[in-house]
Parts: sequence; structure tokens; C-alpha cells
Amino acid sequence: MALIVQKYGGTSVGTPDRIKNVARRVAKFKAQGHDLVVVLSAMSGETNRLIALAKEIQANPDPRELDVIVSTGEQVTIGLLAMALKEQGIEAKSYTGGQVKILTDSLHTKARIQSIDDTAMRADLNAGRVVIVAGFQGVDAEGNITTLGRGGSDTSGVALAAALKADECQIYTDVDGVYTTDPRVVPEAKKLKTITFEEMLEMASLGSKVLQIRSVEFAGKYNVKLRVLSSFQEEGEGTLITFEEDPNMEKPVVSGIAFNRDEARINVIGVPDKPGIAYQILGPVADANIDVDMIIQNVGQDGTTDFSFTVPKGEFARTIKVLEGVQAHVGGKSVNGDDKICKVSIVGVGMRSHVGVASTMFRTLAEEGINIQMISTSEIKISVIVDEKYLELAVRVLHKAFGLDQAK
Ligand code: ADP
Ligand code: ASP
Ligand code: MG
Repeated sequence: MALIVQKYGGTSVGTPDRIKNVARRVAKFKAQGHDLVVVLSAMSGETNRLIALAKEIQANPDPRELDVIVSTGEQVTIGLLAMALKEQGIEAKSYTGGQVKILTDSLHTKARIQSIDDTAMRADLNAGRVVIVAGFQGVDAEGNITTLGRGGSDTSGVALAAALKADECQIYTDVDGVYTTDPRVVPEAKKLKTITFEEMLEMASLGSKVLQIRSVEFAGKYNVKLRVLSSFQEEGEGTLITFEEDPNMEKPVVSGIAFNRDEARINVIGVPDKPGIAYQILGPVADANIDVDMIIQNVGQDGTTDFSFTVPKGEFARTIKVLEGVQAHVGGKSVNGDDKICKVSIVGVGMRSHVGVASTMFRTLAEEGINIQMISTSEIKISVIVDEKYLELAVRVLHKAFGLDQAK
């Protein structure tokens, strides 16, 4: 008998029938004698609908009130699942984040979990009930409803598993595991039996939305056994996120390919090449609460240099505006940019011990006539910025070039 936390994503609870399906799976595990805590997302599309609704009233929604609105999606599904379980004769009780007391900081729309009170959940589990918790939400010290950022139910699931010292956290979604790349873009993508935490962290941070990055961070920090599985298949091992590298010598050097459409490139041209310039440019951008991703500063010539970086697409116009104010002040020639770009990354712990990975990547892209606009590397990943019209092509040819369609 084990304590299992199961998280079901939006598609998995998208209709009353699918919620009944979830109830059947929960009942199956319960019948095997396990204790269950079930974390749910809102029905698919619901969070987007709620955000759009808020924007009809306020173009830039008040963050506190936006959290009040978007957290309702999960409140609906938890109630429905509790009912579906009762219909099957299983005792169950639903909790919002506030009712559990999932305490977060007060950073509305991207709050971080600080602590979880397990008292009420333990009492229910001891009484033989299935505990159902709304994902994506918490409550701050003043009692305000907070949310954890898009995809945040994954993090709720893993955080609950950590707090309850669960034996396993199972993330049920609409694919049957973590693949070498998004199977919706490359149909030849292969399911991975295991992936290391390090690789999963990179994949998530570079755009693979199968797991929210914070959920992977949490699992690594608290040693949570984390598995991704399909809610539409009866059987299957899914993908286990492991702490150890796969000893399989045949394993490809590159484990996966991630991509992110949500990037825009900004160039500040002809700024004086002197100490403090990066700070003068990026300081005001940070002050405006804009996340900066890739940064490149060219070697200066004739006392000036060009400075480029990427921001989320939705922040493109605002960043240009911020920099137009800064440009005159720092003495730059012009500010321009491009919001029709994307980032494609290859990830693999094998890159540590292999040479020539970067040149294979660049050659493969060159052969397709894909121009690389920016490059950034770390020990286990290489990312490039390319025109967004090449995204699918770039991911497909790299997938093949690194033998991922042959991966086992
Ligand atoms: P949920 O609503 O269950 O949280 P998400 O849509 O957030 O589901 O995440 C699952 C989706 O992630 C898949 O449908 C798939 O398109 C996408 N995805 C991106 N990269 C990968 C990958 N490497 N492996 C599996 N799925 C991926
Ligand atoms: N419903 C939230 C979202 O769509 C949280 C989640 O699904 O994980 O982002
Ligand atoms: Mg998700």
C-alpha cells in the first residue's frame, strides 16, 4: 500500500465523461489499497477563457482580481470529481488551495509555494477518503487567493507529494510520457522510458510544456519520485524522471529537443563600448519587470558595440518603449528588433563528454538554409534563435540528425 499523488491536466478533465474516467482510475488505485491525493487542473480551455473574460473588462487585469477569477476553473473540476467518486461509492472530499492552506508568497499570477498544511488531508486519508485538491492555486499570508503561473497544477501536485512524503507523484496528461520532442510537431518522436532531472529541467525551461519547470525543481529538491503518464491509456509505465544517468551506452548524446515560440529579439545598435553599458540597458528592462532570456554583446569596434537580447513576445512592444527612453541616455544609435523568431534547443547530459555536437547542429541547420540569429550554450544544452517560420523544419531535421527517431 502506498500514498500516491495523481495530477490530471486540463484535457484529462475536459468533459464530464473524462472526469468519470478519472474517477474510474482513482477507484482502481483505491481498490488496490492505496491512499490517494488527486490534484486537478481546470477543464481544457477554461483558464484561457477566464483570462480573456478579465481582459474584456480591464486590458491589463489587476493581478489580485485576476487570480480570484482564474482560480475558479479548478474549483469546478474538484467538485465534479468528488461527485463522480461518490457516485461510485467512494468517499472523497475536495479542497481549494486556501482550504488546504497551501501558503504562497503574494506575487499574484506567479506565486511560489512556501508551505503546505497537511493536517486536514491526513485526517481524511486516515478516514479512508480520497483527497482532491485544486491545482494552480494557493493563498498568501493575508488570505488572498494566489495562482502559480500557467501550467502550475504540475507544481501543486509535486509540492503536495513532497509535503505528504508520498511514494510517487504521477502526472497524467494527454501524451503517454516525455518524448524526444513534442510529438505534435515531430510524429516520429520517441517516448523516453527515463529522463534525468537535469535534462528535464532544461527541457522544461526551454519550452517543453509537458511539465512546468517549477514542478521539476521541486521534485529534484525534495526527492519526489515523478512520473509522466497518459490519462487515456489503461496500462503503461510512462516516463520516470530519474536522478541517475541511464547506463545504456547506446543512448544518444542528445536526449531531446525543446522549442519556444514565445520569444522576441531586441537589438540596441551602436552603444558606447564601456563598463556599465549592459547594466544601463538591462537595468530599466528588469525594473519594468520584463524577463530577459538570451543576451549577446558583440566585440566592440571603433568604440561602439551592438547589444541583443530576447524577451517574451508579449513584452516586445513594451521593451522597445522602455529602451527608446534609455537609448538617448546611453548614446546608442538605434533600437530595433523582431518578434517573428523562436528558440530551438538540443538537450543532453551526453554533451558533456562528446565533442562536435554544436557543429552537427549548425551544419544541419545550414543544410536547410536556416539562418542562426543568436546562439547560447551551457554544459548540457545548445540553443539557437531562428526565424519562427523555420521552427518545425529545424526541430524535425535536428531530431533526425541526432538519431532521436531511432531512440529506445
Ligand atoms: P496538461 O493539460 O495535461 O497539463 P499540457 O498541454 O500542459 O498538458 O502538456 C502536455 C503537452 O506537452 C503534450 O500534449 C505535448 O504537446 C506537449 N509537449 C511538449 N514537449 C513535449 C515532450 N518532449 N514530450 C511530451 N509532450 C510534450
Ligand atoms: N489551469 C492552469 C493553466 O491552464 C493550470 C494548469 O493547467 O496546470 O495554466
Ligand atoms: Mg500542463
